[in-house]
Amino acid sequence: MSIEVSGVNKRYGDFVALEDINLTIPTGQLTALLGPSGGGKTTLLRVIAGLETPDTGTISIEGVEATALPVQKRNVGFVFQHYAAFKHLTVAKNVAFGLEIRKKPRAEIAAKVEELLELVHLSQFADRLPSQLSGGQRQRMALARALAIEPSVLLLDEPFGALDAKVRKELRDWLRRLHDEVHVTTVFVTHDQEEALEVADEIVVVNQGGIEQIGTPEQLYDEPANDFVMSFLGDVTTLGGSLIRPHDVEVTTSPLSEHSLEGTVSRVLRIGFEVRLTVLTDDGEVVTAELTRTHARALQLEEGANVFVTPSPGA
Ligand code: ADP
Ligand code: MG
Repeated sequence: MSIEVSGVNKRYGDFVALEDINLTIPTGQLTALLGPSGGGKTTLLRVIAGLETPDTGTISIEGVEATALPVQKRNVGFVFQHYAAFKHLTVAKNVAFGLEIRKKPRAEIAAKVEELLELVHLSQFADRLPSQLSGGQRQRMALARALAIEPSVLLLDEPFGALDAKVRKELRDWLRRLHDEVHVTTVFVTHDQEEALEVADEIVVVNQGGIEQIGTPEQLYDEPANDFVMSFLGDVTTLGGSLIRPHDVEVTTSPLSEHSLEGTVSRVLRIGFEVRLTVLTDDGEVVTAELTRTHARALQLEEGANVFVTPSPGA
């Protein structure tokens, strides 16, 4: 049981937005669709939701063929970047909305709303209007509203994208904990690699209408399928013509092996506990290395120093 996307193609005129997408999203997991802007993430999410019809291919949700099912029959909950709340309704009424249009009994609605507001830590704001909430609180209200109908799938399209960095980080942690509590199958769209790496059980890298790689955060980071995934998932540098992570560059004052390249430190940047070095090799390659401060201090590195750079074993 899961979401199955098979052979999905979607064009807008001549433009290919999705090309032969095949994907299984396991039940109960938090899956991130990660990729650069314009890559097709929203289109794929909308196809899963039933807001877009694919030109070819099929979608099944929890074993039910859903390709021809309208949105309201798919039992999906949504949250978008800019959440459209009912401005004149209280937080509690906003959360209750989906249950009221489904004509649930009043007592059942009241109990459910109370439970959900507790889950998203908004109980004390039940009687406020959306305009009286912060951006982060509004997105939590949106999540409560999406969860109210007990969806079999929760679809989140850059839900924290409009919030500032600190609130985003908090909500990211909070979403992870919420998911651990309710275990609803969740598809989370983001263009932020750090967000995907921190939150998701599994990441699907979407680029130019196709899937570059599917894997756990560790798999993608440690065994990227190609240079695109490698550079999209974090800092990279070239060393001897290969792409590696800056923290996999060994910096020494004498050569470590036959792979060592000699060069000159052209920049030293101290960021938190790390030191980023730019080394210009004698062959003209620009190499970025990342060291701990302690290590950099021990080497007495400064601009103009003569060093050797070597890919660490296993990099
Ligand atoms: P992402 O969410 O990864 O940023 P989208 O799925 O929104 O990407 O868009 C993928 C591509 O499809 C973009 O180039 C976008 O301009 C195009 N596109 C999306 N929706 C439409 C539409 N309704 N009509 C025409 N082009 C569209
Ligand atoms: Mg998008």
